[in-house]
Amino acid sequence: PPLIAHHGPAKVLAVCNQKGGVGKTTSTINLGAALAEIGRRVLLVDFDPQGALSVGLGIQPHHLDQTIYNVIMEREVDVENVIMRTNVADMDLLPSNIDLSAAEVQLVAEVGREHTLVRTLRPVMDRYDYVLVDCQPSLGLLTVNALAAADGVLIPLECEFFSLRGVALLIDTIEKVRERLNPKLEITGILATMYDPRTLHSREVMARVVEAFGEVVFDTVINRTVRFPETTVAGEPITSWAPRSSGAKAYRSLAREVIAR
Ligand code: ADP
Ligand code: MG
Repeated sequence: PPLIAHHGPAKVLAVCNQKGGVGKTTSTINLGAALAEIGRRVLLVDFDPQGALSVGLGIQPHHLDQTIYNVIMEREVDVENVIMRTNVADMDLLPSNIDLSAAEVQLVAEVGREHTLVRTLRPVMDRYDYVLVDCQPSLGLLTVNALAAADGVLIPLECEFFSLRGVALLIDTIEKVRERLNPKLEITGILATMYDPRTLHSREVMARVVEAFGEVVFDTVINRTVRFPETTVAGEPITSWAPRSSGAKAYRSLAREVIAR
């Protein structure tokens, strides 16, 4: 990979959609791996109590003593000590597990509750080029924290008819966070996922998405393929599990688009 002498300050991208199963976690891992492949320093933040991002990197988060929950809720815990160096694609991980589900409730009573993730990441921002935050499938306080910490939002959108419905609410939330908490927040792009080029349905949904959102839709489209569930089982990104697959190529192309935006 090309050498980049200086890293940081990191661009923070929140990978967000309140619908589950649309490819947030898959896109976080594989975009991260594709960025790392071309020399970027990448931190992946698991911000979902399900811990699927951690599992996707081969880590069993339920056995960890400390996770992002401890960094957020306990002032004396240093983020540096909780970030894990994974040997997967040279990316670092701030892991999560079910403990994080308590944070949503506990944070409500705190002053500056929307800015806990910003504060958590601040000490390490100069070490990375990209921090990718894998959000949970809701628009609750954790997701608002991710949006308050982000420069951009990447919205994976499943090529299914009903998936368009939730996007208006998500964009509304992004606009509110921009007005009230984080003026620099932008929509980096909408990523069509689970695309099946053989079905008219997929092509129709894709046309609707482009019609509704125009330029903000990435040119890169992620096809539906069994390769992705396989990589989850392998605990590896597709870029190393099946480096020449069309899925790996698609996430590399997404990485180039993200860098260009
Ligand atoms: P989310 O984080 O939005 O809930 P995931 O990334 O976990 O979604 O994906 C949900 C499921 O779909 C996982 O089993 C994953 O392996 C699978 N998956 C993700 N992307 C694709 C794809 N392009 N084609 C087929 N299966 C996919
Ligand atoms: Mg997920």
